[in-house]
Amino acid sequence: MIKFLDLHKINEQHRDSIEKRLQDVLDSGWYLQGEQNALFARHFAQYCQTEYALGVANGLDALNLIIRGYGFGIGDEIIVPANTYIASILAISQNNCTPVLVEPDISTYNINPLAIEEKITAQTKAIMVVHLYGQATQMEHIWELAKKYKLKIIEDSAQAHGAKYKGLRVGNLGNASAFSFYPGKNLGALGDAGAITTNDVQLFEKIRALANYGSECKYQHIYKGVNSRLDEMQAAILDVKLAYLDEENERRREISRYYQDNIKNPLLILPRAYEKESHVWHVFVVRTEHRDALQKYLESKQIQTNIHYPTAPHKQAAYKELAHLKLPITEKIHREVLSLPISPVMSMEELSYIVTCINEFSV
Ligand SMILES: *Cc1c(COP(=O)(O)O)cnc(C)c1O
Repeated sequence: MIKFLDLHKINEQHRDSIEKRLQDVLDSGWYLQGEQNALFARHFAQYCQTEYALGVANGLDALNLIIRGYGFGIGDEIIVPANTYIASILAISQNNCTPVLVEPDISTYNINPLAIEEKITAQTKAIMVVHLYGQATQMEHIWELAKKYKLKIIEDSAQAHGAKYKGLRVGNLGNASAFSFYPGKNLGALGDAGAITTNDVQLFEKIRALANYGSECKYQHIYKGVNSRLDEMQAAILDVKLAYLDEENERRREISRYYQDNIKNPLLILPRAYEKESHVWHVFVVRTEHRDALQKYLESKQIQTNIHYPTAPHKQAAYKELAHLKLPITEKIHREVLSLPISPVMSMEELSYIVTCINEFSV
């Protein structure tokens, strides 16, 4: 079986360095908010070209803390792409804000910048962009809208560590950005982990307190905060793996090029990168009207695939209040997408076998 994602193999590459750094943590006797967090936050901010980074417990918390940090709440609207992973929308509704769903552009799968302005109202406070599948959102028009209507831009960068837009890294394309280091992400921990990046010192300091029981100083609580800290073990692991992120993203680009050059089946629509060197291919998503048949066929050939995602947020049982929305592009995407295996540890033999099988697929 060719795995969709071989996490063991990915982490095995870094075993020695990880073991050494974990020894350091054990030896230090210090497990939270210590040296490893400080080191990783410094390196991650450098990597994203931002002033500040803060490790938190996971990606959903990172999004939640940004919205809470800006003080958005009841009655406030936040614009968000309709085809995102549920976490983007959960962070909005968990803060009692209203998610305003906008259709994506079918060629990039990211929010359609030209569909945003008509959704802006007097209640709109922010635009949440989601750099889906590893490609940065087309920001130019969104920057103009944010300026014109005085809106914050919140990035959900959980699928796009290292991706760029016009030379700028994601994490530095808006006012604040949320990252997830869930094990399967391009930069993955060995457990749950997340981070926030920003250039806004006030927001940074507020979020740092919010994530630590609303406290800046032990036992003094200025906010009704939460406990959302990145532990020292995960910070150490992430700091090791961060050094290999660009290399691993480059390998993903090579694999995507191979798919693009060699898949010749007219039944499939291949993804395209706006800027070839900037996409980090978190997933390689093809589209076909025969999605379910293709998935079944590949399974019969021992090739594991995945669907990102089978059900749109507005069709989820948890969001009945959104069920009336008409979002034909979003629904088409959820019906037709299929993610092929892509990861920095795939072999040429695996790739060529997958391509041969796909080219032989017919209905
Ligand atoms: C993974 C992901 C998240 C959530 O991250 P967790 O660390 O699992 O909480 C948020 N948004 C998107 C787009 C994601 O892919």
